[in-house]
Amino acid sequence: MRETWVPMPEVTDFPIQNLPYGVFSPPGRPPRVGVAIGDHVLDLSEVDTPARAEFAAATLNPFLARGPEVWAAVRDRLVDLLTGEPLTPYLHAQAEVELHLPIEVADYVDFYSSEHHATNGGRILRPGTEPLSANWKHLPVGYHGRAGTVVVSGTPVVRPSGQTRTRGEPPAYGPSQRLDIEAEVGFVVGVPSAQGEPVSADDFEAHVFGVVLVNDWSARDIQAWESQPLGPFLAKSFATSVSPWVVPLAALEHARVDPPAQDPPPLAYLRTDQPWGLDISIEIEWNGTVVSRPPYRQMYWTAPQQLAHLTVNGASLRTGDLYASGTVSGPERDQVGSLLELTWNGREPITLGNGETRGFLEDGDTVTIRATAPGKDGTTIGFGDVAGVIQPAP
Ligand code: CA
Repeated sequence: MRETWVPMPEVTDFPIQNLPYGVFSPPGRPPRVGVAIGDHVLDLSEVDTPARAEFAAATLNPFLARGPEVWAAVRDRLVDLLTGEPLTPYLHAQAEVELHLPIEVADYVDFYSSEHHATNGGRILRPGTEPLSANWKHLPVGYHGRAGTVVVSGTPVVRPSGQTRTRGEPPAYGPSQRLDIEAEVGFVVGVPSAQGEPVSADDFEAHVFGVVLVNDWSARDIQAWESQPLGPFLAKSFATSVSPWVVPLAALEHARVDPPAQDPPPLAYLRTDQPWGLDISIEIEWNGTVVSRPPYRQMYWTAPQQLAHLTVNGASLRTGDLYASGTVSGPERDQVGSLLELTWNGREPITLGNGETRGFLEDGDTVTIRATAPGKDGTTIGFGDVAGVIQPAP
C-alpha cells in the first residue's frame, strides 16, 4: 500500500486500509459525506470520484443505493486520491467537525444471535427451564425495532419511563429502574430487493454495504412486563445508538473467520458457502472503566444468514435498512454484552474503577462501546466509538 499524504498518528482506527464513510459538517457549513483517514476526514463532496453527486447529500443513502460496483470503484479511487497530490483544502480535523447519523435508517431489525447471551438470558429470567427456546438453533430469532429513534454516537439518552410490575403488586408507571445496554454489531443495507423475492444468503455482498457498532439501550423492567407474550416494544424503542462511521465490508476481508459449527444443520435457505464470521473484538467502557470485552466471532448466526431469514417470507429490503446482530456475549463473565449478564440482573453489582458500585445505569452514567478488527497489511480496523450519557427522566 502506498503512503498517504495525510498526517497519520502512530496508532489509529482509520488507516488507509479502512476508509469508513460518515456524514459531517465543517464549522458553519451543511452536512456532506466524508471518509475517515487517521484523525481527519476528507470531504468527498469536493473531490473527483464516481459518486461525487451522491456525496453532497446529508446521508449515505444515495451512495449506498449505487451498489457494489460503484462502492468498489470509489474505494479504489480514494486510495489513489489519498496517496496522490495532497487535497489539503478538503481535509478537516475530526475534532473540528460535527458528525451526524450516517444513514437515514429505513427499517430496523434486531436479532438475538449469541448463544451465550440467549443462554444467560434464559438462566437469569426463566430459572429452572431450558434456557434456549425450541426454535433458537433453527432460525435467527429477531424483532422489528424503531428506525426513527436510531441516533448517532454522542446523543444523550433520556431515561425512559413506562409501565412495570413488581411481583405481587399492581402495575405502576415511572422511570425505568433497570436501564441497560446491549453491545451489538449492525449491518447496513445498500441495494434494495423486490417484495415477494427472498434474498439468498449468498447474495449478502450484493446488498449489504458495511458495518456499524450499535448500543441497543434496553429497559429491563419495562421489557419484563410488556413482553408477554410478544417481543420487545417500548423497552427498546426509546433510543438505539450507532457509531458515526460505516465500515465497508471490503475493509473487513481480513477479519473473516469461520463461525461456530451449527448443530443441528440449518434449513437450506440458511446455508451459505460464504462464511461471514468476523473477528471483531468489542470493548464496553462504563464511566471510564472497561467492564467487558465481547467477541463477535463467537456469534452463532451470521449476517448473511440473518439477511436470508429476514427476507425469506418475501419482505423487501430498502436502502438504509439496518439490522443488528443481537447482544454479543462470549462464554466468560467479562465477555458479556449487557449489564443484565454482567451484574446477573443487578444481584451481583460490580465496582467501577472510580469506586462506584453499579447494578444498572444511573443518571449521568456514560457508556462507550468500541471495537477493532484485523485489517489488511497487519493494520487495525476501528469503527469509531458509540457513546451515550444517561439523562434523567423528565
Ligand atoms: Ca438487542
